[in-house]
Amino acid sequence: MAALRLPPLPTVRDLVKLYRIQAQKHLAQNFLMDENLTNKIIKKAGKLTDSYVLEVGPGPGGLTRSIMRKQPRKVIVVEKDRRFLPTLQLLSEAFTNAGGEMDIIIDDITKINLDLFPEEEKKEWEDEVPRIHLIGNLPFNVSTHLIIEWLKAISERSGPWALGRAKMTLTFQKEVAERLVASSFAPNRCRLSVMAQAWTKPQLKFIIPGKAFVPKPDVDVGVVTFTPLIHPQTRHEFHLFEKITRQIFSFRQKYIIRCLETLFPEEYKDKLSIMMSKLADIDPTTRPFQLTVQEINRLCTAYKYLCEKHPNIEDYNYRASKRVLPPRYTHDIQVQELSASVQ
Ligand code: SAM
Repeated sequence: MAALRLPPLPTVRDLVKLYRIQAQKHLAQNFLMDENLTNKIIKKAGKLTDSYVLEVGPGPGGLTRSIMRKQPRKVIVVEKDRRFLPTLQLLSEAFTNAGGEMDIIIDDITKINLDLFPEEEKKEWEDEVPRIHLIGNLPFNVSTHLIIEWLKAISERSGPWALGRAKMTLTFQKEVAERLVASSFAPNRCRLSVMAQAWTKPQLKFIIPGKAFVPKPDVDVGVVTFTPLIHPQTRHEFHLFEKITRQIFSFRQKYIIRCLETLFPEEYKDKLSIMMSKLADIDPTTRPFQLTVQEINRLCTAYKYLCEKHPNIEDYNYRASKRVLPPRYTHDIQVQELSASVQ
């Protein structure tokens, strides 16, 4: 299908100048002005024609224009910085005149309800993906936070994922993008790789050199797409899976048994960590980066079993137990304990 021709508009570069919009460093604003690049990102997002697209952080709207050219039924943009409202309104008018529909939400993506798509678009989880896409070139800290939140929603099949396996296309700092897709045995395998791959198929599509952005960030950028898996690699609850994965990667270079010990109070840690690795059929001398998602899933099952047998271990928090109190508080506690024992 031929790309949609938007009515003549000033270029994004001209709009930024016209409205005197200076990129705000504290919002990590780096804009893409090159139409070939924004078109390339959108091409990787898949078929957008007739679909509903949520774009997060549209800024001056370079990527938004590339989305619109694909003739989606509706574009919803969520932008935190109100200064972009006039440029987004201009785009909205142009798109509406060309037969499209656009909603502008000025808000923080991490704070809004994402039930923004019509129920009629619902597909069964096992069916083809629904005509719903989530796209964003966001500040890196926001996109990492967001993908974790969205993985949780995917695991619960809530928000956009109540309507099926909606695809996502997000940008990350190159190193983070590479970690997201790192397979077991890759040296950069980490918690994020496992979390992303437990519920989705992440694909690193291409790298954008930092110099393509205005102003130029210090790093290169990776474009990653995520397609939710029909059969997730775990059936465990998100929080449990995240807790175990976090602890497994707590000491990246050590044997897995040292990491499992952090799940249990001091007095039980030796016995229960060995038991956990046995139940999961994992060699205790495996290193965290060597584990597959299925193996981590088995460790979760083993941990859950041990928690059922010993309910008191579930609330154990390694980090809290290791928190070192400043000397004054240690002294206060000793004094309190002393006075309690005297009474
Ligand atoms: N998409 C535009 C582009 O590619 O040129 C802008 C990219 S800029 C890296 C990130 C944009 O996300 C900025 O416009 C910024 O104001 C916006 N943003 C940052 N945090 C946000 C949040 N929590 N919710 C919504 N928008 C956010």
